[in-house]
Amino acid sequence: MNIKRMISLILSVTALLCFVSCSGEPAATEPATDDTATAATEEPTTTEEETTEEVTTEEITTEAPETKPEIVYAGLESGIVRDGTPRKYFCLCFDDATQQDLKIIEMCKKYNYYDVTFFISTGLYGVDWTAGVGVPHVRFTKKEVQSGIYDGFDLASHTLNHLPLDQYESNPKKVKSELETDAKNIYKLTGIYPVVMAWPGGDPNVTRGLMKIAYEQTSIRLARGTTSTHKFDLPKELLWLQPTAEISEATLFNDFQRFLDAECTEDMLFFCWGHGYELDIYNSYDRLEKFIKMIAEAEGIERVTVSEFYQLFKDEIPSYIEDTAE
Ligand SMILES: [Zn+2]
Repeated sequence: MNIKRMISLILSVTALLCFVSCSGEPAATEPATDDTATAATEEPTTTEEETTEEVTTEEITTEAPETKPEIVYAGLESGIVRDGTPRKYFCLCFDDATQQDLKIIEMCKKYNYYDVTFFISTGLYGVDWTAGVGVPHVRFTKKEVQSGIYDGFDLASHTLNHLPLDQYESNPKKVKSELETDAKNIYKLTGIYPVVMAWPGGDPNVTRGLMKIAYEQTSIRLARGTTSTHKFDLPKELLWLQPTAEISEATLFNDFQRFLDAECTEDMLFFCWGHGYELDIYNSYDRLEKFIKMIAEAEGIERVTVSEFYQLFKDEIPSYIEDTAE
């Protein structure tokens, strides 16, 4: 009944819908803030006509700008301008947000290397998969993550509960919730809305149907797979981006050296991924530190987070290509 309450309800619902229904439109290309701003000024005007004028007008002009959510999308701060100069882009990312990430973060900080992405499942805080994995696999608790472990790094989505999503393809609502709820939780945590993710379970659990759901019903615009290409080509489709290499592969250093030595006549990408717990499986902490040092000190490459890579190439590489073959 209360007009003020009605208006703020309309504004909150409008803001919420903006998060949820960015179907098809690259969320980061068209920030929901703008849509919300328009809606915020238009919606109440209608209400105004139906109710008593004076109070409503006052509230729109004074309250609307304050309630407008300032959504900041991830990856917009790379400082790199695509000016036609071919460059070698390098991404490094780690899945699962387990406690080994502390060591990785320590190494990265030691070499002042912050362009690293960590993929987290915010529905699994504190969960211990050690028994199944065979080495410590304990995810950070919510409190630990809130304490700022990942501050300065790129925090992105690994979906809410790390489910084998191929089993849920016939339930788009569930898939959407797994992706979008995790993204929203990360936004609440960091104040930055993620637009990239890593598919949980990797390639065996990815389907084109899932990509379509992600594209049409969520704000996620890039999702990493798990098959190493050992190549430096740019991806063709961002919602199933295949990496160049995995941190525990024997060929890692060789691949990286080839990347450094390669002539750069067009944009190139070295996309590297891994898990913190692998460091315990292979006792490879020293090896990873050596690699991180090499990346941090390398000349002639652009170190970017996965979110930054997306923002730099979002206008050139499609997130999803509709399969027209019957
Ligand atoms: Zn994972």
